[in-house]
Amino acid sequence: MQEFQRHLITAALPYANGPLHIGHLTGAYLPADVYVRFLRMMDKDVVFICGSDEHGAAITMRAMKENLSPQEIIDKYHTQFKDTFSRIGISFDHYDRTSSKRHHNTSQDIFRTLYKNGKFTEIESNQYYDEKFNQFLADRYITGTCPKCGYESAYGDQCEKCGSSLNPTDLINPKSVLSNETPILKSTRHWYFPLDQHASWLSDYIVNGKVDGVEHHDPGLWKNHVIGQCKSWIDNGLQARAMTRDLDWGVDVPQEIPGSKGKKLYVWLDAPIGYISATQEWAEKNDKNWKDYWQSSDSQLIHFIGKDNIVFHCVIFPAILKAHGDYILPHVVPANQFMNLEGDKISTSRNWAVWVHEYLDELPGYEDALRYYLIKNMPEQKDSEFTWKSFQEAYNNELVNNLSNFIHRVLVLVHKFYDGNVPNFDPDVPINSVEDSDLGGFHDSECIYLFDQLHVMCDSLRNFDFRNALKIIMDISASGNLLLQKNEPWKMIKEDPDAVEVVMNLSLHYVTALSVAIQPFLPFTSDKIRKLLNLPVLKDGAELVRMLDQLAEGELLLQPGHKLSEASYIFTKIEDSVIDKQIQKLSGSKVQTAKTSNMNYPVPKSEISYDEFMKMDIRTARILHAERVPKADKLLKLELDLGYETRTVVSGIAEHYEPEKIIGQEVSLLANLAPRVIRGVESKGMILMAEDENGKLSFVSPSKNWSVGFTIK
Ligand SMILES: [Zn+2]
Repeated sequence: MQEFQRHLITAALPYANGPLHIGHLTGAYLPADVYVRFLRMMDKDVVFICGSDEHGAAITMRAMKENLSPQEIIDKYHTQFKDTFSRIGISFDHYDRTSSKRHHNTSQDIFRTLYKNGKFTEIESNQYYDEKFNQFLADRYITGTCPKCGYESAYGDQCEKCGSSLNPTDLINPKSVLSNETPILKSTRHWYFPLDQHASWLSDYIVNGKVDGVEHHDPGLWKNHVIGQCKSWIDNGLQARAMTRDLDWGVDVPQEIPGSKGKKLYVWLDAPIGYISATQEWAEKNDKNWKDYWQSSDSQLIHFIGKDNIVFHCVIFPAILKAHGDYILPHVVPANQFMNLEGDKISTSRNWAVWVHEYLDELPGYEDALRYYLIKNMPEQKDSEFTWKSFQEAYNNELVNNLSNFIHRVLVLVHKFYDGNVPNFDPDVPINSVEDSDLGGFHDSECIYLFDQLHVMCDSLRNFDFRNALKIIMDISASGNLLLQKNEPWKMIKEDPDAVEVVMNLSLHYVTALSVAIQPFLPFTSDKIRKLLNLPVLKDGAELVRMLDQLAEGELLLQPGHKLSEASYIFTKIEDSVIDKQIQKLSGSKVQTAKTSNMNYPVPKSEISYDEFMKMDIRTARILHAERVPKADKLLKLELDLGYETRTVVSGIAEHYEPEKIIGQEVSLLANLAPRVIRGVESKGMILMAEDENGKLSFVSPSKNWSVGFTIK
């Protein structure tokens, strides 16, 4: 495997039109943060880049909705993102924004180079145009019916129901979001990137890990679902994509290019360039050369993203970089799948989410609890699930009962036996080891156990298997608990004080190792453990690689005589009431958003006049008798009391109501509907029923014991 001199790690630019939720965290930011912290502790040259994505139609749409300017919208979310990331411990080296002057310049430079080198095709085509607002309708400015699945609120660039990528002209019954009117077609010129011409090398790059016949990366490092999604895109035929838009918000097409007036770069062209401009900004501030990271083959580029961004980071952006010619390509794109919430897809529009800034406000001090649960359930290979109950269980059973209790027990015993000083260590005194090892001295076997476990953890991290890496941390803690149980120092202190010294010294070894190894996952917890041990907090230096060397050499991690701080718990149980409150909050948002959700409501019927309504004779009635219609599963034959007469009605409710249970039921009857003969029975009128989205029926009734035969109007 190639040894890289530098590592450039990016996390998906969050889009500045809504807050961050747990799906974003576990999808892109946490895996990137764990990986970067790991590299730093292995003494690697690494830069961790991100920033707010502030262009595109969704920003201006959001601004319209909130009655703010686009600038106010992006300022609002940019500030919130920065704050939220910092509070949850995402350790970017630089967090930038795409509205910056530098980003506009860098994006234009790249566009200019591609243009000059003939990498674009200019195409004139008819696109939808809103005459009232004098505006072309790109992407989210237009909605209509999806041609693939029939969903009626599909956008011009994508159907959110079936996930299909669309062009505005694909939509059936297109409507302008601005005027709500049917748009006209109007001719416009744009610069297209001929992705189809890049299909063959892209396929070799993604599937075989080769670029221009030369080995570029190990394709085994790429996740199957990432390769699968790219392959399916390529196999279905890549098409030229417009790289510009007729919009008034975004990066201008360089003005010296003829026809550039009023044209902006497509947001998916400028957004990933944000990684480059942010690196430039960081390099300038830190006296580095950004080209060492972006344009040198001994630098490794890794994009952490969610699966919805795979095509942009694995197909379009690499094709742009290669067409430009000066840039390295992504080494690997370890995209994650999605996290669901309490059995349902996370949705911003339905407010079905755990918002990270709200979590931090409502559960202060539980930053690492969330990091722990989101890493433990990271959707690395398939979609995963967040439930508040399993969050509570994982926290109480694993962080409290396993980790926190182990560390607390060790500290309490060391204070009790040795006044808080690390005891002496004699490698020749036998104890009961957690590993049944025939390697000789127990000291060796404990150190080798720790060393082996930490190596497996490092390998898991290198393979983006964060769940397994975290599990190893918890295994080490569980082994520490086992070491205490097998040797029972609280009993043995009188009988065999020499052995207890060794057991307590080794236990402190475990705690020290945990304080280092846990840092990439739970940085706040690492700080707490370090303080308990009276050791300096870690600075993301080379601590992990140093500790591995010490363990390999059989060196002590803590010197006898070192004084510990007072014992205290690093985690305490989270109560049911806290969790219940969160569950209640979620169910509240379900009720609130039911009205605006994506349910398939029946299509509204056309308008009728008052006179037409008044023609209907709707009356209260009561069921006197009910029986099934022979050989008809759905039909009941009902005798109705209308006060002035009784009449027979056949109703299609047999699958919803047992005949004997509806005798005496008050109903509403459309009494002047023309009689029909149904299965040989003459039916005079129709009983009104309410139907829900699952086709369930319910009577529309007046109050109990209401007089029958009177009108409903
Ligand atoms: Zn669709």
